Amino acid sequence: MKYISELQAVLGDEKLLTDPAELYVYGADWSPRTSDEIHPPDVVVQPKTTLDVQRIVEVAYANGIPVTAGGGLTGMLGGAVSLYGGIYIDTTTMNSIIEIDPKNQTVRVQAGATLQEVNDAVNPYGLWLPHQPESKWVSTVGAAIACDNDSTFGVRYGKILNCLLSVEIVTGSGEILELGHRKAHFTSSGYKLKDLMAGSEGTLGVVTEATLKLEPIPETRIVEMLVFHRMGSAVDYLSRLLRAGVGIEAAHINCKRRLKFYTHAYTAKFGGEAEIPAWAEALLAIAFAGDEKMANAQRDHAIAIAAEFDAELVKEREIVDSWWASKYTLEFEPFKQKWPDVQKAKKFGAADPGVPVGRLEEFYHKFVEVAEKHKLEIIGMNAYLEHPNSIGFSLSCAVFVDYRSADEIRRFRLFHDELSKLAIEFDGTMSTFMSDTHQKAPYLELEHGRSLVYMREIKRLFDPKGIMNPGKKFPREEG
Ligand SMILES: Cc1cc2nc3c(=O)[nH]c(=O)nc-3n(C[C@H](O)[C@H](O)[C@H](O)COP(=O)(O)OP(=O)(O)OC[C@H]3O[C@@H](n4cnc5c(N)ncnc54)[C@H](O)[C@@H]3O)c2cc1C
Repeated sequence: MKYISELQAVLGDEKLLTDPAELYVYGADWSPRTSDEIHPPDVVVQPKTTLDVQRIVEVAYANGIPVTAGGGLTGMLGGAVSLYGGIYIDTTTMNSIIEIDPKNQTVRVQAGATLQEVNDAVNPYGLWLPHQPESKWVSTVGAAIACDNDSTFGVRYGKILNCLLSVEIVTGSGEILELGHRKAHFTSSGYKLKDLMAGSEGTLGVVTEATLKLEPIPETRIVEMLVFHRMGSAVDYLSRLLRAGVGIEAAHINCKRRLKFYTHAYTAKFGGEAEIPAWAEALLAIAFAGDEKMANAQRDHAIAIAAEFDAELVKEREIVDSWWASKYTLEFEPFKQKWPDVQKAKKFGAADPGVPVGRLEEFYHKFVEVAEKHKLEIIGMNAYLEHPNSIGFSLSCAVFVDYRSADEIRRFRLFHDELSKLAIEFDGTMSTFMSDTHQKAPYLELEHGRSLVYMREIKRLFDPKGIMNPGKKFPREEG
């Protein structure tokens, strides 16, 4: 292909992969798919600088070739899969930490740095980037922005946008733009174009660098777990804590089944399953942080309030610690499962809808009903508090999916579609952390109505030829 020799001319051979065996690896992410749904790109480029990315996009633009950017390929909905072939930009070769500014509490990084690499660099200054998905070991900064993914510590620090001061992108026509302010922590000037990048899935441009706001590392963290009769009581309890002014660092409601999935470290260690009272519907894992005195005071006040809700504290430390290890400290590499052995055959598949907080329990029962209707083995539901000091949830409704069964993958997609539509009917949203990709594209109009027209125009402005990750959010021809 002519454009590949043009890429060779501008980048040199060492930044290009064209061997089919190497390309194959880039044909799938973590989303359930059969072997005939693997879409290798035609060429993989491994840029080092923003100027490399600009040169790549200029070649793509001149030749009308699709461009898909990707990071760790742990997306769970096929976002980084090159549906129409073309050029795949592997951003993991752009992982430099450019500037740490301890006084202003900011860091400037290239987009392919993993969230863990950012923290390894800033921790010696007593600072951390609190945006921490479980996949932080491999999930890149660029992808965290592009998926608008969620974080273990959302209830104190919010999602990636709460940390994002500015972002550099290469647009679909090859222009380099800086959106936002590198040093000012907020602004009321101009339009907030940087916010458009959160959840944009590489459809508006390639994220090449970002400036992120850091926070002081808390001295102490205390994690506890409480058992509730009903999921709704756990929600009411959290609301009561916030009203009482208790500072919460992390809060995750797990249905009973989901807790078992997360405590496999317990099973591995003790040979039996973590015991959960038969009456329990939900378990709340909750973290408190600060100096030792403050963290303990908040914890004690929160535990005292729990009595009002007939909740019980989990006394067995191993259950709490194994849950926290799964959630926060367990390292994993892509395609080397961090989850139970059973997953070698059956993998994790999830829908990520969002519903009004008052309807969480009702939606949980719908999730179980829909999963059972499609004969899927249920892993369970998690609700993560993701808004700073308020009670907005992101949801993970998870089932096992046998990748060897095309029929099971088809049923998983029906389950996913049905939950997406149901969440919109509940006055919620289809997506709280995975974004849309091509899978939710058919329902965008249902969720966004007339504003979709404006979204299409924005896409055209950033990507006039519709070459940036085509097929995601909008059908290719409308890009
Ligand atoms: C074990 C496991 C645990 C997980 N835990 C969480 C969790 O706690 N919270 C959560 O939200 N998600 C979680 N995920 C999902 C996933 O890890 C996240 O969505 C993550 O942000 C994806 O990062 P990545 O680097 O692997 O992205 P990829 O899969 O490579 O890409 C994801 C999307 O971002 C786009 N993209 C990537 N880089 C760029 C760039 N530089 N410019 C423009 N677009 C780009 C891609 O085109 C694609 O649309 C988990 C996944 C796994 C497998």
